[in-house]
Amino acid sequence: MKTREICAALLCSVILLGTAGCGLNPASGSQNQNGSASATGSGQPQGSAAGSASDPSVPTGGLEEEVKHHPIPEGDKYMAITFDDGPTGNQGGRTDRLLDGLNARGVHATFFLCGYRIKDFNSMAKRYLDEGHEVGNHTMDHVRLDCEVSDGGLKQVGSNNDLIASYTGEKPTVMRPTGGAYNDKVIASMKQLGMPIILWNLDTLDWKYRDASNVRARIIEHAEDGAIVLSHDLYESTVEGVLSAIDELQAQGYAFVTVSELAQIKGVTLEPGEVYTDFTYETLHPEPEPTEPTGPEHTEKAQPKQSNA
Ligand SMILES: [Zn+2]
Repeated sequence: MKTREICAALLCSVILLGTAGCGLNPASGSQNQNGSASATGSGQPQGSAAGSASDPSVPTGGLEEEVKHHPIPEGDKYMAITFDDGPTGNQGGRTDRLLDGLNARGVHATFFLCGYRIKDFNSMAKRYLDEGHEVGNHTMDHVRLDCEVSDGGLKQVGSNNDLIASYTGEKPTVMRPTGGAYNDKVIASMKQLGMPIILWNLDTLDWKYRDASNVRARIIEHAEDGAIVLSHDLYESTVEGVLSAIDELQAQGYAFVTVSELAQIKGVTLEPGEVYTDFTYETLHPEPEPTEPTGPEHTEKAQPKQSNA
């Protein structure tokens, strides 16, 4: 058992304890009322995963080339800010304003998108990639994968992968389960889909307080090299609070990158079905667990696993 996995599992069990019961997870907030019918993948546009030529929203020609050329912002310390549950609003709406603010600051972020929202607001799909952001998968219908579906999320995540790819030209490579909730079946299904499970270690609680100064204060107070920040592309207060925190932390030497970029910077290869909460030094170099007798025969067992030093 890898030590990093154990740490992640421990943290997530805290998350699960705090969100016991289907439909009660805090991240779902009020957006469930806007959700589509529960039929998985209902309303998906037709066409291949690589994009349909008849869909005007599908970028054509050279997008994949374009999106590869976004140099990682330079910084002394790095964090990844993630926005779940979006996009919100059409062009000129909240997501557009958030993207404007991030772009003006040279920030790369990760957006874990819900399929049912993409269907309505797909005009933003190309902007994410054009401006260096990462598009992740947050299920088709924002259902709990540990208890509201029986296949561990194969259909919810698989169909959303295809939907996102139909707009962006590429499938997401990272996913976040609704409410951060997962179990062994979800792990097995994500392994099958080839997707690492991305959680967080810095919660803005933006869904709870909906207060920009609170969001700003939480991010700044708990900022740490390698942290993954949870926020939601749902509230105006989140846009204001996150952008304000970014201004302060950039002045302190932080740069903001996507989850995949953060893993790369920290020398971590994201593995399908593995759970990641953050890439802080403490997580990547955990203290050996205190074991009983500390004879030479036990020393090897206590070595932390890390793919790269
Ligand atoms: Zn969510």
